[in-house]
Amino acid sequence: MARVFNFSPGPAVLPEAVLQQARDELLDWHGSGTSVMEMSHRGKEFMGIATKAEADLRELMNIPANYKVLFLQGGASAQFAMVPMNLLRGKKSADYINTGEWSKKAIKEAKLYGAVNVAASSEAAKFSTVPPQKDWKLDPNAAYVHYTPNETIGGVEFSFVPATGNVPLVADMSSTILSRPIDVTQYGLIYAGAQKNIGPAGLTIVIVRDDLLGQVLPGTSSMFDYKIHAENESMYNTPPTYAWYIAGLVFEWLKKNGGLKAMAEINQRKAGKLYAAIDASGGYYKNPVEIRSRSWMNVPFTLKDDKLDEPFLKGAKAAGLVQLKGHRSVGGMRASIYNAMPEAGIDALITHMHDFMQHNG
Ligand SMILES: *Cc1c(COP(=O)(O)O)cnc(C)c1O
Repeated sequence: MARVFNFSPGPAVLPEAVLQQARDELLDWHGSGTSVMEMSHRGKEFMGIATKAEADLRELMNIPANYKVLFLQGGASAQFAMVPMNLLRGKKSADYINTGEWSKKAIKEAKLYGAVNVAASSEAAKFSTVPPQKDWKLDPNAAYVHYTPNETIGGVEFSFVPATGNVPLVADMSSTILSRPIDVTQYGLIYAGAQKNIGPAGLTIVIVRDDLLGQVLPGTSSMFDYKIHAENESMYNTPPTYAWYIAGLVFEWLKKNGGLKAMAEINQRKAGKLYAAIDASGGYYKNPVEIRSRSWMNVPFTLKDDKLDEPFLKGAKAAGLVQLKGHRSVGGMRASIYNAMPEAGIDALITHMHDFMQHNG
């Protein structure tokens, strides 16, 4: 069976070259006679894989030496709790910006550990916008400011990096990390579940400024203390070794393909084409997000009549385009078009959209 174009929001498409390399190395990694899955995480071979992956990520994202890079488990959802556990640091409350379903979940979890000030919310606008920063009610004494640069479900993306002065900025970058260059020094902490734009599920990456470590809430387990993981190079317990290895292959693939600057150009072009097709359909297809906050990574769209959804998906599947059904909370379609989605996939989707509209006008 041929490979399809997979628009899944996550776990998501991986670069084909990476899958091929993993296949070639599956039974015998570099003459070791073992699979990476079978290696001791403390052995020389895996330590080499782990160190190289971190070095490549640091190079790709230009991560300064005073930031730790952690390879953890538990998904972005565990970070919803670990962030307040580690970063409240005796302060009374933290600021959160509410721009969608993932922000809401982060807020709910943070409330278990401290007071939350929702400094801005676009809930009244059905999460179709990003509130302009001039309207935010930031607390200068907040422990940190948390936001979701790209809301994977709503397809809403910040077109700016919030300015928070001396208050550390925390970002859930699960669905936008590696999609373009960023300035890591603007952040206190960045986290991302791997299964969108990094690698397989089961790995979570945390990038944290080292002065924020070491003030975990009393009674917190070692497993939820960033400092313990940092001191043990993410090997306090057994890390997700195979996912770490595949992430490393993805980092090599990114470096070979021009790094994040090249990705940004391609991603902008891919998303631009798809939004242009939606906007040129005379209302047949619609994206609900304000233009300046449209996501490069997740493009939700509705059809003019939701009775057309099933036939649209059926036709898409027949054309080799899968996982386009929108999130149950939003309905319609959603095309997730991460780094590994080839531009040919976007072109094929646009062709299907045109054809479907012609035959179901
Ligand atoms: C997918 C996603 C999550 C949840 O990730 P898990 O790894 O399943 O916990 C959180 N935040 C954002 C922005 C996401 O896209």
